[in-house]
Formats: sequence, structure tokens, C-alpha cells
Amino acid sequence: MSITYDKTHPIPMPPILWDNKGFWDGVAKHELVFQKCKECGNWVHPPRPFCPKCRSLEKEWARSSGKGTVYSWVTYRESPHPAFKAPYSVVLVELKEGMRLVSNLVDIKPEEICIGMPVEVVFDDISESLILPKFRKAV
Ligand SMILES: [Zn+2]
Repeated sequence: MSITYDKTHPIPMPPILWDNKGFWDGVAKHELVFQKCKECGNWVHPPRPFCPKCRSLEKEWARSSGKGTVYSWVTYRESPHPAFKAPYSVVLVELKEGMRLVSNLVDIKPEEICIGMPVEVVFDDISESLILPKFRKAV
């Protein structure tokens, strides 16, 4: 089961700001990118002005493997928003690079989700102006 949308209601849009624009630019190209420190190589997520490890201001947007594992999840049985049709599951994915990303799993029933399950990124073209990175069970 994947989350489905009731498109008769406006779907909430992610706020795109100066610090996360690189992430959303990558998603628009079906690439999962994160800030990476050019000085020490530390992945910086969520985006911020400086590297929390070495304080460098020199960063770049680097592509993630898009592979990881389910760190945690929750299944919504009632929708908190009229555009989201329940039930659906929200997962916290821990990527191989160490960053954690809140997302959804596609093509799976909630009872099949388990902590540590290997997953890989897919991109959901929801509308002309909204593409979201989601995950599916990796084989
Ligand atoms: Zn650094």
C-alpha cells in the first residue's frame, strides 16, 4: 500500500527555502542529494550554513546512494489532512551515508514493514509541481 492523495484538496507543499533549495532541485531531477562538507567530507543534514563537525562554510550538494534501512515507522489509520488518504505509513529511513529522512514506503502493506528492512529511493511525480522522494523495499 502506498499513500494516495485526494486531489480534490490542495496537497500541502514542502517549503522551499534558500537552505534546502539544492535538495529540492535534486528531487526535481530524480536525484537524492544532500549537503556535504568540502573540507572534511561530513554529510550535513538537515541543511545549514556550516558543517557541524568542522565549522567550514564550504559545502556542496552531493548525490546519496539512495539506499538505506527503515529506522522507524508509524502507520496512520486516520488522516491528519484531507488530501492524504489513510491508511498510510510514514517511515524514517537511515541512509547508508548516515543521514535520516522522513518519507513514505511504496508498494508494501503496513504489516510487512520492519525495522532494519533494506530500502531504496524512488521518486513519486505527484503533480507538475510536486515530486517527492519515497522508498521501496530493496531486493
Ligand atoms: Zn566539515
